[in-house]
Amino acid sequence: MRRVGPAVLAVLVAAAGLVGCSDDAAPQARSEPRPSAETTRPAPTDGVDGGDGVGDPYFPQAGNSGYQVERYDLVMDVRIAGPDRLDATATITLVPTEDLRSFHLDLLGFEVSKVTVDDADATFARDGREMVVTPERQLSEGDTTTVVVAYSGSPGRTGSSSPAGGLIGDGGWVDLGDDWSTVIAEPIGAATWFPSNDHPSDKAIVNVTATVPAGLEAVAGGRLVERTDAADRSTFRWEAAEPMSPYLASLTVGDMQLSEKDGPAGIRILDGVPARRPELLDGALSRFPEMITFFGQRFGPYPFRDAGNVIVPGLEPVALETQTRSVHSESILEPALGTLPDEVTAHELTHQWFGDAVGPADWSMIWLNEGFATYGEWLWLEHIGGRTVMESARAAHDGDPDLNVPPAAPGVGQLFGRTVYQRGGMFLVELGRLLGQPTFDQLLTTWVDQHRFGVATTEQFVALAVEVAGPDKGAQVTALADAWLHAERIPELTP
Ligand SMILES: [Zn+2]
Repeated sequence: MRRVGPAVLAVLVAAAGLVGCSDDAAPQARSEPRPSAETTRPAPTDGVDGGDGVGDPYFPQAGNSGYQVERYDLVMDVRIAGPDRLDATATITLVPTEDLRSFHLDLLGFEVSKVTVDDADATFARDGREMVVTPERQLSEGDTTTVVVAYSGSPGRTGSSSPAGGLIGDGGWVDLGDDWSTVIAEPIGAATWFPSNDHPSDKAIVNVTATVPAGLEAVAGGRLVERTDAADRSTFRWEAAEPMSPYLASLTVGDMQLSEKDGPAGIRILDGVPARRPELLDGALSRFPEMITFFGQRFGPYPFRDAGNVIVPGLEPVALETQTRSVHSESILEPALGTLPDEVTAHELTHQWFGDAVGPADWSMIWLNEGFATYGEWLWLEHIGGRTVMESARAAHDGDPDLNVPPAAPGVGQLFGRTVYQRGGMFLVELGRLLGQPTFDQLLTTWVDQHRFGVATTEQFVALAVEVAGPDKGAQVTALADAWLHAERIPELTP
């Protein structure tokens, strides 16, 4: 995730009035969740009831306990004229991790018309973002189970009341008027567009088949494997080759120009830009293939089969590292914001290794995403002849009280605070100086190798750094991590 500073943002929003319009217009038209659809059928008596969270310290109701998802197959008809509306079926392949007589899915908004579990009708009840599903018979630990949820209505909102939330609240589907929609679902916004186990720790394949009005494109992560054009509707089927955290799934609908090409090392690149701005392909995105090669040399091979970017108009200045194909607002790529377009593209691409391939075990560890992406941004600027990495770190260091917050435990209010970005990045700079470049590079590539397609903790990263550092420097690594990640006051940078 990358946003511009609040001051700049406030000016931009006041001047444009764009985001306020699109965000304010939709909610009253959105459907209320049905309170309950329980019938009188008795529930199975064996097994346990799955829980409504995975124990995330910042978002207790994010995700659910009792199962792991292997695959989501989402088939949706998308209407974007007026309030956005989905008519959708989610087929969820999951494996119980204990015997279950009921389990939860996260889903916000919509009318749910039917839920089946292994082809048998199941009962369900809804409460906020939780949907409790009670199958006809209990699920057995380890048995692959297919859950089908039919739902329709306007995508739900996570709201902006959370201390972590900005204009897009806790993330989710964004209705951008009659011509565009997109999904920026970090941290807990997957539930706004599909029933899910909405926590980074449960990675699954997400395939999206979207039918949209003719003339518009629908772009998700992964690869476009089929496109069918009828008189008034077009259908796009996207398939992912690698599992992802639900918040990293996305779908953008709009009048786009798509550009597909072969990238380095057999990676397929597909970018989507507003059809009226084809020059963006030669601007902000022109060095993207070179970036993949550059970061591959530092972090190890690019982790996925597919890559690319989507640029969306009418959205606040924000970008999100949606897996294999990052979403950028058109506004965040404007030079007027004082951010080089390259900087943002490099930030989101770095996330494909750190955040996407290796996710945070819970949201308190978000510096494992943002500190690394900031570091990647600084590396790229140095590579293209801009500020050196050290100059970037120095420029960010001095006189900012927001940095006197420990990046490894920022609190939910600082989830996207500067400390997880800037101070997290500075820790990596200091660690690189201590270890020396070859050893530091070895640390980063080993980290991705060990945890690819999984999640990991701050403690695991520091332990690996200590191990790679060897007996001579291990204690210094621990001291560095304590000072930069866990202490309240920000240390001085090494002169
Ligand atoms: Zn980021």
